[in-house]
Amino acid sequence: MHVILLGPPGVGKGTQGILLANSMGWQRVVTGDLLRAAVNAGTDLGQQAQEYMSAGELVPDPLIIEMVKEKLSALPAGTGVLFDGFPRTEPQVTAFGVMLEALGLTIDRVVVLEASDEVLVARIAGRRSCPTCGSVYNSVLAPPQREGVCDNDGSQLVHRTDDTEATVQNRLTVYRRETEPLISYYEGSNAIVHHISGDQGVDEVQAEVLQALGVGL
Ligand code: ADP
Repeated sequence: MHVILLGPPGVGKGTQGILLANSMGWQRVVTGDLLRAAVNAGTDLGQQAQEYMSAGELVPDPLIIEMVKEKLSALPAGTGVLFDGFPRTEPQVTAFGVMLEALGLTIDRVVVLEASDEVLVARIAGRRSCPTCGSVYNSVLAPPQREGVCDNDGSQLVHRTDDTEATVQNRLTVYRRETEPLISYYEGSNAIVHHISGDQGVDEVQAEVLQALGVGL
């Protein structure tokens, strides 16, 4: 199965994506994580992307499309794939369609997680992430067992440099303008689109996602 997780920053795509991919044995393609890895490694792509990311702007489509193309071609054939953070713009949707077609693949499901801007801003303010496995915590709402340390692999948690209040507002505006309209595109496609409230506990959201996808608990 090929699934896109869509939704605003902070809605829980990362958390749910990890849970879902782990329980199903699926691969995850997370453009934000790929970009942060490129920034940390100081690659050409990372150097070009950094400025956009810290301003909460989208990284230009050609860079993203090339990066996803490379990632897709390196995935083992026949596995389920979960896309998180991609596609985010109309040109990305178009390029993605071409890439999938060339590989004989289709998008089966789109899971849209939703929450109000107020909830998202509160969550992002306290967000801490694991640079190793991508697990996401919130220092107030969902703290790790040991402060500042990932429950999963013991790495030191980091506060993303684009999780500042000013940048978050811009990321939300960019999401509503560029990415939210893609939902109606997928509603008009062959993919089945599920809308789920991200404004619930992690377990409740997970149960709804699994039920919607029919992959049961
Ligand atoms: P969030 O969804 O919480 O904003 P991500 O980790 O998905 O965070 O993305 C962080 C940043 O990386 C974005 O603000 C943007 O600058 C860049 N980015 C990630 N995915 C894409 C994409 N598909 N197209 C353009 N820019 C992207």
